[in-house]
Amino acid sequence: MEEAETLQLFNAPTPDWLRNTFDAFRHADIKTLNHGLGVDSTGLTHMILDEPERFGVAPDFSDFVVVTAILGDEFEDTNQDTENHLYGRLRSLGVRTVQVSRRGPERGDGIAVLSDTRSPTRVQRRGPYTLRDELLINGTIPTAAGGHRCSMNHKAWTLDTFARQAFPGARVGKLIGYNADEARRATKSEKNNKGAFAMDYPLIRENFDRARIARYVTDRTGVAWGKSYCSFCPFSGVCASRPAHLARLRRYPQVAAQDLLLEYRAMALNPRSKLYVTETLYKRVSDDQQVQALGEFEALLEQSDWAVYHVRRAYGAGRRESCQRGGHPKDCKRTGCHDASVKGAVDRSVETVATGSRHVALQRLKALAAEHGRPLQHDVAHPVGLDRVTLRYRPDKVYGTVEEFYVLAPAGIKDKEKERFPSTWGRIAEQGLIA
Ligand SMILES: [Zn+2]
Repeated sequence: MEEAETLQLFNAPTPDWLRNTFDAFRHADIKTLNHGLGVDSTGLTHMILDEPERFGVAPDFSDFVVVTAILGDEFEDTNQDTENHLYGRLRSLGVRTVQVSRRGPERGDGIAVLSDTRSPTRVQRRGPYTLRDELLINGTIPTAAGGHRCSMNHKAWTLDTFARQAFPGARVGKLIGYNADEARRATKSEKNNKGAFAMDYPLIRENFDRARIARYVTDRTGVAWGKSYCSFCPFSGVCASRPAHLARLRRYPQVAAQDLLLEYRAMALNPRSKLYVTETLYKRVSDDQQVQALGEFEALLEQSDWAVYHVRRAYGAGRRESCQRGGHPKDCKRTGCHDASVKGAVDRSVETVATGSRHVALQRLKALAAEHGRPLQHDVAHPVGLDRVTLRYRPDKVYGTVEEFYVLAPAGIKDKEKERFPSTWGRIAEQGLIA
């Protein structure tokens, strides 16, 4: 055991700057702990409740606040484990425990404080505006490109905003439960922080890697703590292994059905929007023979109001290397500077043309097919099928061109078009290439 832990020291070297964070942290006026409901921050919370002074926290917890950003799509077992194996201790010690979330689609909408108490009993299941709401309204899935933007917008921003609003003028310390396998995340987080908060990463300093902290939490609570993540996270290999995730969906078929609906709506607007890039969630769930989830998904489709959407996308072509090397401006519009095989900016317009029952909406789509003299297509990119009438077709990986179609999908996707869309669309539809 000791030998193994010594080895880990070499496997996960602590960055030099991390050795100095504790000093700044313990002099902060307020010490917050970001409790993300997962095993790492749960373990850290228990350690601090055991020995507050070792972590720079006042022995009566008067300067200590546990804060959770509620994303709205945690699995139920994670919520219950937190209630059953953490909140009791926070309650008995009278630790201030806060739950916050976003309030609306814009940052200007601010945050909602869902709970702020020294006797927490319940993890709030959702706030007024969740990541799933955002995805459903936009008809999209979380993008696998660009990392965990979901957690930046719905987690980090919410927590930072709370800290600034709740403790104006105070020097706020933040405990982050990154484990010793995540030194790179800590380095990145410290860089983004730019000195705004006195951050400390005790699990890294004390060399608790994922396996060690999981053992600690299980010893402590008697529970094999589940991973904390949104059920529709596209990083299934990162947030949870594929078998573990499928087992969880099997346990919560209603969640699986909601995620299947999310994927189906996104694929209606863009058949390339498979949740796992090359593979649909639908395929994984049906390969795993999750009959109940598939049945509940079908039921959701039947109960839904449906809509016909008019979708247009303008795909700008990217700049040639010669344009970039030549120091032309980023929005260079010179002839010959763009390449149809290089991806440029993509602008989208979505407009709801009709709503009604699935049958009524399908009749409307058929009428549009007749009106435009185009066939009604049944695209099996999604196994349930996507009913569509294509007006302008764009092959995969060709840029500097446009696509346009009518498609049938469950209602509720908001009409959306950037101000610049009409001019971008006009330019690419007529001249091609340049967005
Ligand atoms: Zn150029």
